[in-house]
Amino acid sequence: MKPVPESAPPAAAAPLLEARGLVRHYPGPGGRKVYALNGVDLGVSARETLAVVGESGCGKSTLGRLLIGLDRPTAGQVLLQGLDIAHSSAAELRASRTRMQMIFQDPATSLDPRWKVEALVREPLDNFRRGSPQERRERVAGLLQRVGLRPDHGARHPHELSGGQRQRVGIARALALAPEVIVADEPVSALDVSVRAQVVNLLCDLRDEMGLALVFISHDIGLVGHISDRVAVMYLGRVVEIGATATVLDAPSHPYTQALLDAVPRADPRERRKRLPLEGDPPNPSQLAPGCGFVGRCPRATERCRQERPELRAIDDGRAVACHLAASGIELAAGAA
Ligand code: SF4
Repeated sequence: MKPVPESAPPAAAAPLLEARGLVRHYPGPGGRKVYALNGVDLGVSARETLAVVGESGCGKSTLGRLLIGLDRPTAGQVLLQGLDIAHSSAAELRASRTRMQMIFQDPATSLDPRWKVEALVREPLDNFRRGSPQERRERVAGLLQRVGLRPDHGARHPHELSGGQRQRVGIARALALAPEVIVADEPVSALDVSVRAQVVNLLCDLRDEMGLALVFISHDIGLVGHISDRVAVMYLGRVVEIGATATVLDAPSHPYTQALLDAVPRADPRERRKRLPLEGDPPNPSQLAPGCGFVGRCPRATERCRQERPELRAIDDGRAVACHLAASGIELAAGAA
């Protein structure tokens, strides 16, 4: 058995954007704290896609908002090439916004319906006074073309476009200031299945062309296999498994990752593995017990799991898992049970 390193492994390259010990809690009933994030460490490098996956309410959207400074953490740091934007001044935060942008889930609600497309895409350039009016118009025209929209789309309102076209407007707007980091929060889940692949492929092409660091947030682990370099699986405000996408998806180590993958429909019955049932709901985030947060749903829970919280620990090349069994070297991979 390999010796188990004491800490989570770093990203392959120096991260452009990094979360360290990120905690975000909100006031809850009876004066209790409701933890949306409970100690998250991860990073993403230029030209890399980090997928963040998990069920609704696991904290992945809160993480996305904290990563680009739309919200401040209760504790921890968000480092953009060393600058802690979680504790920076308003001026520093505004400057960092030109380097990081967000793509939202539903372009129908994230785009002001009263504005025409040209004005929506131009607005970040106007806000930061980038270029002359003519240069801004040319920049907008180039962006619309690059995301696959025609010049005449610029004169339309969002409701005159299809869902896929609206999301392309959202992408063009996010790219207007030539950011280095894009956080895409469920960018295709509101779209028809038929156009999801086109939008995902567009994001991948833009990442490669512009050298973007891309954080791709999704509830669907089946979607991220061919677009992400690494994947972070979140449960109850924590990362429970992180590693190279191929490693995590081919041989999931954490029982929760395994259960998420088992829930992905597969056409070929030979690809179906022995399933781990995922039953029940996550515990109330304002009433967290000691021990593993997954213990009430985990078919492999032991008494130790009820008493002691598993920390995220490296188990093999580039992968870290928060599970007592994985950390002890017991094989949890598919089919080994
Ligand atoms: Fe299951 Fe225990 Fe691992 Fe938690 S620590 S995932 S309860 S086996």
